[in-house]
Amino acid sequence: MSSLLEDMENLLRKNKELVRVVVRKINEYWYLYSRKTGISRLKIMDFCGTHEWTITHYGIRSLIPQGIELVAGPGCPVCVTPSHYVEELIKLALDGIVVYTYGDVYKLRSHKGVNNIYSLSEARAVGGDIRLVSDILVAINDARKHNKPSVFAGIGFETIAPGYAQAILRATIPSNMKILSLVKLTPPAMFYTLEVSREKPTEPPIMGVIAPGHVSTITGAKAWEPVAENYEIPVVVSGFEPVDVLVSIMEILRQLVKGESRVVIEYVRAVSYHGDLTAQSLMWRVFNMVDDAWRGIGFLPKSGLRLREEYSEYDAFKEYGVRELNPADWKYDMPMGCRCAEVVLGKAYPSQCPLFLKACTPQKPIGPCMVSIEGTCAIWAKYGSRELLLKLSSELKSELGA
Ligand code: SF4
Repeated sequence: MSSLLEDMENLLRKNKELVRVVVRKINEYWYLYSRKTGISRLKIMDFCGTHEWTITHYGIRSLIPQGIELVAGPGCPVCVTPSHYVEELIKLALDGIVVYTYGDVYKLRSHKGVNNIYSLSEARAVGGDIRLVSDILVAINDARKHNKPSVFAGIGFETIAPGYAQAILRATIPSNMKILSLVKLTPPAMFYTLEVSREKPTEPPIMGVIAPGHVSTITGAKAWEPVAENYEIPVVVSGFEPVDVLVSIMEILRQLVKGESRVVIEYVRAVSYHGDLTAQSLMWRVFNMVDDAWRGIGFLPKSGLRLREEYSEYDAFKEYGVRELNPADWKYDMPMGCRCAEVVLGKAYPSQCPLFLKACTPQKPIGPCMVSIEGTCAIWAKYGSRELLLKLSSELKSELGA
């Protein structure tokens, strides 16, 4: 609580004038838009887990009109990795394969479990050799030293795929280490989320998107053109400072007032329209696009990456016989009572889950959204819920003179 207030204070102290102006403009645009349309509630989706972190950590919701709901999207790769692949990794670990993984995947719980073991951390407790790494290069160096059969759990979005591709193309991966590519592509998930939001007309619709900044450094802002075109809503590729997010909200409202629906890059210091062409070329040389399963959601067309046939010598699916999910045998894979599938689609807030901060906590997560630093439930658990932030809003607004 105190650290949240300290962070808010720092935000105000550092950027006080800018924040004051931007918040005032947000209020002006919101007033104009709601007067023009009669709309009193709308949602803006912040797709990326890091944006949700900035929004919640800095109390951005408390600075904007209450009719504007900021809802998280499926932009946390750990949250959307199907339970099935966690189980496959557990099986590999129990079979004596060294498993390299990022720290948050280590704690991710599978739905069914394997012989009563539900996570890689539990697999380690019974003797599995699970090694936590920050990136694939660390795993490569380590695997070279021990020469035991190993697998690298390649979980992430477009941002990490070029690094994997480069390691393969440079032939730096030792023959004892294979990659289990579970990389997901974000645009199909954004399209799906918007489709779902249109299916429920009683809910406030998603009328703007804060597009992921990190992913867009690779894909370029052009990846989001179909969103602006097909759904006729503004899209702003945003940076991750609190002021970036506020400016992005302001731009979305400005476009709504003007009746525009364009893709705008707010994060100009890192993102271009066409993206990183070298990284894209590396990625497409090594990976194929496939229909892929998203946890709690199901299969989305062309939403995942698997290694091309010519790189099958690096492929853990082939080497260790890891079973791929297919649409016919995909089953809903969230724990009982967990509303994570709705949380990642912007249909529910973590505080609307009956397990939130009761049975499900960051120390003992039940659902995948409570595991990763980018998971909405974990972020809300750490930095406060909507109710807490709304309670602080009048105090902050008066400080800002908004
Ligand atoms: S609080 Fe836990 S159980 Fe509830 S939606 Fe979030 S992750 Fe799932």
